[in-house]
Amino acid sequence: MKSESPSLKNLVELLSYSKELGLGDVVLDGLTREEIMSSNIGEDIKSTGTAIDQGIDQNSPEPLIWSEAVSEMNYKSLEETANHCQKCALCEKRNRVVFSDGHVDARLMIVGEAPGAKEDEAGIPFVGQAGKFLDLLLASISLSRKNSVYICNVLKCRPPGNRNPLPDEIETCTPYLARQIALVAPEVILAVGTFAAQFLTGKKLPLGKLRGSTYSYKGVPLVVTYHPAALLRNSGWTRPTWEDFQLLRKIMD
Ligand code: SF4
Repeated sequence: MKSESPSLKNLVELLSYSKELGLGDVVLDGLTREEIMSSNIGEDIKSTGTAIDQGIDQNSPEPLIWSEAVSEMNYKSLEETANHCQKCALCEKRNRVVFSDGHVDARLMIVGEAPGAKEDEAGIPFVGQAGKFLDLLLASISLSRKNSVYICNVLKCRPPGNRNPLPDEIETCTPYLARQIALVAPEVILAVGTFAAQFLTGKKLPLGKLRGSTYSYKGVPLVVTYHPAALLRNSGWTRPTWEDFQLLRKIMD
């Protein structure tokens, strides 16, 4: 069941009382990235995914060498390399590389999908209304972006017009994410949005079917949930998102 876009205040109330509201599940397939973008409340929903450790173009030896080099970088080198990266065409129209926010020693790592317009301007993932709502969701389980979380995206540069990322863009950029996960070494990963969830689980299923379970990414517990931008658009996802955050808290405890 879809509903009209609620205000942030209403969503907080919905979250607080989600159990009593009895909102039904809504599968993410019902909402396209373009629909989210046109609502002006979210920046980075996409709907395709691939396995994180598939590697990059197997027909080209040069990217493989680069991928291996990335896999051995320390954090500072990794960030500096990403901030000057021109490995795919997304570098041409970006304003800022959006590498991460939060603490490198955080227990929780949140992986979104790709920068939107506001993130591209700020160079920080999850800003704007979706970012504020993510902060509220974190607060609901006694976590804060400032103190407890490391946040990044699958892609570090914004796809023009918020279009879906191309397969070669995904494959070229994913060594950064793989190395970020290895260096941060979180106790648990939260993938938000269909694209990030499919990417990290390696399963091309709708988010409504993926959520509710605990996965493993190279031995790290992985929980998936709806993207906060999509949640702002569809209050029916409040209850399952609440449950996903409770699952996350349970794993961390
Ligand atoms: S999206 Fe990733 S691979 Fe492409 S230019 Fe940006 S950092 Fe490099």
